[in-house]
Amino acid sequence: MAEQANPFESLQEQIDDASEYVDADADVLERLKRPERVLETNLSVEMDDGSVEVFKAFRSQFNGDRGPYKGGIRYHPGVNRDEVKALSGWMVYKCAVVGIPYGGGKGGIVIDPDDYSENELERITRSFAKELRPFIGVDRDVPAPDVNTGQREMNWIKDTYETLENTTAPGVITGKAIESGGSAGRVEATGRSTVITAREAFDYLGEEIDGASVAVQGYGNAGWIAAKLVDELGANVVAVSDSSGAIYRGDGFDPRDVKDHKNETGSVSGYHGADEELSNEELLTLDVDLLVPAALENAIDGDLATDVDADVIVEAANGPLTPEADDVLAESDTYVFPDILANAGGVTVSYFEWVQNRQRFYWSEERVNEELEGIITTAFDDLTDAYEENDLPNFRTAAYVVAIERVLDSYEESGNWP
Ligand code: NAD
Repeated sequence: MAEQANPFESLQEQIDDASEYVDADADVLERLKRPERVLETNLSVEMDDGSVEVFKAFRSQFNGDRGPYKGGIRYHPGVNRDEVKALSGWMVYKCAVVGIPYGGGKGGIVIDPDDYSENELERITRSFAKELRPFIGVDRDVPAPDVNTGQREMNWIKDTYETLENTTAPGVITGKAIESGGSAGRVEATGRSTVITAREAFDYLGEEIDGASVAVQGYGNAGWIAAKLVDELGANVVAVSDSSGAIYRGDGFDPRDVKDHKNETGSVSGYHGADEELSNEELLTLDVDLLVPAALENAIDGDLATDVDADVIVEAANGPLTPEADDVLAESDTYVFPDILANAGGVTVSYFEWVQNRQRFYWSEERVNEELEGIITTAFDDLTDAYEENDLPNFRTAAYVVAIERVLDSYEESGNWP
């Protein structure tokens, strides 16, 4: 995976590209390109052996014009200030493009969680929650899971916050386990919106998803659920990968069986049903009908994009294509449906969770999936309408045009203060 592109610069370039098609002054657009504030903190945490280790952590609050800051918390050795800033910005535009009332935030700890025990991870998480406490809140900033964090970490953060605030506030964080105030359907939501987007995209392009060949990069939460749900639509998942490598089967895998293998062995590699093992790069350049990058940002750079052979890319990961890759693909036969729409299911069901937490009234999974379907298909139509009406170069620009206009409308209605 190419690591060179700075995701914050990629975000700014994406906004610049879309700004050409938005009727607003340059100075107003400038404030949409950088975060309002970034918390940088050093967590000193006692390890199991009694030593103390220091971890760098961040929380970026990018823009709050449309509602509380909203966005995940990532645990990864590659977390850095610019990455967190970029991810928080993508959240602003993601929430706007699907029309949910949030701004954008993101956080992370520079850590490889595999190197720590569960007790150490709990102390690290609670330490971060203590630092976050003055910045977050049900109506202020609402974190959620991201790479290497899940229900367990969200439950710890909620509990730390509630204990320090001496209150109950399940809506302070989303992605919780059901018994801690989580929503039905949240775990599957990102993969589900990815597949709804793919289904709508194929329909829009006059293609059949039934029988389509699919490659999925990354077999974590987003990737595996996308593989499972696209398989349920009749597509053939012919290749999947994780950080251990990629596997290929011409007749298509049973995604559940691959998941069982990954659960047992820790990776997709070595799966008995594969015809062959591929490199991660080979997976990304397969001749498939649909490619779903569901790992990390910058998976496809300008060089690799020249070898991409997929007809349609639907981005489950955040920022998997660099702007150079976008430029290359815009000139090719590959259609790209952007992350800020495709993976917005996660934040949309987080929004449903927050609504349910506020009302103390919980919905069935059926209702959650139905509401999600409505939000993603409406957003898809808004995006393709903008694409056609403004004769835009690609669907990413269309998504940003829709989103930027919504953020600007709310900013202009509120006025600039002080
Ligand atoms: P995860 O940690 O569950 O899974 C990530 C997967 O990517 C793992 O299988 C890992 O092995 C794999 N991976 C890492 N590097 C790789 C590489 N070089 N090649 C192939 N595979 C590689 O994380 P997730 O929650 O599924 O998130 C994946 C992406 O989706 C991220 O970009 C995240 O920001 C985005 N996303 C997730 C959610 C959500 O609700 N989980 C919501 C929106 C966006």
